[in-house]
Amino acid sequence: MSFSASVLTLYPEMFPGALGLSLAGRALEAGTWSLEAIQIRDFATDRHRTVDDTPAGGGAGMVMRADVLASAIDHASPAGDLRPRLLMSPRGRPLTQVRVRELAAGPGVVIVCGRFEGVDQRVIEARGLEEVSVGDFILSGGEPAALVLLDAVVRLLPGVMGNAVSGDEESFENGLLEHPHYTRPQEFEGRQIPEVLTSGNHKKIAAWRRAESEKLTKERRPDLLAAHPLVK
Ligand code: SAH
Repeated sequence: MSFSASVLTLYPEMFPGALGLSLAGRALEAGTWSLEAIQIRDFATDRHRTVDDTPAGGGAGMVMRADVLASAIDHASPAGDLRPRLLMSPRGRPLTQVRVRELAAGPGVVIVCGRFEGVDQRVIEARGLEEVSVGDFILSGGEPAALVLLDAVVRLLPGVMGNAVSGDEESFENGLLEHPHYTRPQEFEGRQIPEVLTSGNHKKIAAWRRAESEKLTKERRPDLLAAHPLVK
């Protein structure tokens, strides 16, 4: 069974978007994963197809209605669907490579994309939505966040990445940022490729890369080191 993604959105035209190209696009065509973008507005029940309303308690903006969203979720993910239901949300747990790996190992995802000020709290609780954030900043909608999450997951699906090894050596897979990369030409504007990399000594190269990774992580992301103490 291939990985199946259902995205609930007010802008289904945003999908597959960037995921229709390159690695993810080829995998979509090959049937390694499938994507269904569902228009939330189709589940509105009134004449004006209303999906949002003013916030209880007052204040600016609009809130997505619980009833309309629940109908859309129940259509996309009926009882027995084993896929986790995610809500893209700046209040959510920040997305990590560990969670991305878990999702890629599962049957798929149902993703709700918020708009306006967000969604009525009751549908989050009633449908067990897992809130996921892509970073500490505010997007205008959940769609770009859903594209980010799906891109990260799809590249890990079996057969999607040409060179399977590159997946394991990347930033975060071992709790470290990746070492710098170089390629030809040997000299660029007076800068040389570090000598060790052209030495042909694979042990020395691995040690150099590891040391560079550790140095970079200490400088830029000490929080990662705190979470994954270096294995000596
Ligand atoms: N009023 C909200 C922000 C709403 S932004 C607040 O202050 O928390 C509108 C929608 O964009 C959200 O419902 C969510 O689906 C999406 N969104 C915005 N920023 C996001 C982020 N960092 N990660 C994931 N989704 C985000």
